[in-house]
Amino acid sequence: MGKVYLVGAGPGDPELISLKAYRLIQEADVVLVDNLVLGVKKLIPEGKKVIDIGKTAKEHKLSQDGINMLMVELSEQHDKVVRLKGGDPYIFGRGGEEAVFLRKHGVDFDVVPGITSAVAAPAYFYIPLTYRGISSAVTVITGHEMEEKEEIDSINWEAIANLKGTLVILMGVGNLAKNVDNLLKHGLHAETPVAVVEKGFTEDARIVVGTLGNIVEVAAKEEVKPPAVIVVGDVVNVREKLV
Ligand code: SAH
Repeated sequence: MGKVYLVGAGPGDPELISLKAYRLIQEADVVLVDNLVLGVKKLIPEGKKVIDIGKTAKEHKLSQDGINMLMVELSEQHDKVVRLKGGDPYIFGRGGEEAVFLRKHGVDFDVVPGITSAVAAPAYFYIPLTYRGISSAVTVITGHEMEEKEEIDSINWEAIANLKGTLVILMGVGNLAKNVDNLLKHGLHAETPVAVVEKGFTEDARIVVGTLGNIVEVAAKEEVKPPAVIVVGDVVNVREKLV
């Protein structure tokens, strides 16, 4: 039985992965990639066996269970299986579930942390998530409504709106209006600065800035698309001093 490595691929720039991640990519017998690993694919040596889960999932309707099973099967055939995951493997993206599945099936695994887009995408456009006197807390949430509808409803929006810190929303573009509405409803001011960072640390990186009051309109006009990170809070204005 081989070993599966859940490896953080960082936010998109191939230089933003760890030395360990790089080494494992070179040594792997097979590398699993998906749509979120962006530029890191360049680091995979020619001739290496690569399975594109994004593509496979589309063509064969591979579900998360299918991906999990595939990793188990590959571990039976190969010594080193590298599953590249965008950002950090354990920040959303179901990395935790994959680890639990592997453990349950007796597959040896290891995790290699990565630089999460929650931190990197704002940094790319000069937004520090904390700043003395402006924000002493950061909260990262999902703005994505799960198929089962549980995830978004499980968020305590009242607490989030009263944090007086920085809020980072992943997977929030599709539901932008609903997310903004939840924050306004629970007391955040319409003037609160908001930034939406699309494809941070890639050639197509883009930032759109507004306020809770107008960001839905601005993002629609600019045709903002996932993957994007939404930053809510006064730290967004620090950017003006840095650009
Ligand atoms: N594990 C990943 C997150 C997976 S969830 C991480 O740590 O970054 C997928 C979400 O991540 C996307 O919907 C988007 O909100 C965010 N994301 C991933 N890569 C991004 C990038 N390069 N720029 C902006 N957002 C990104």
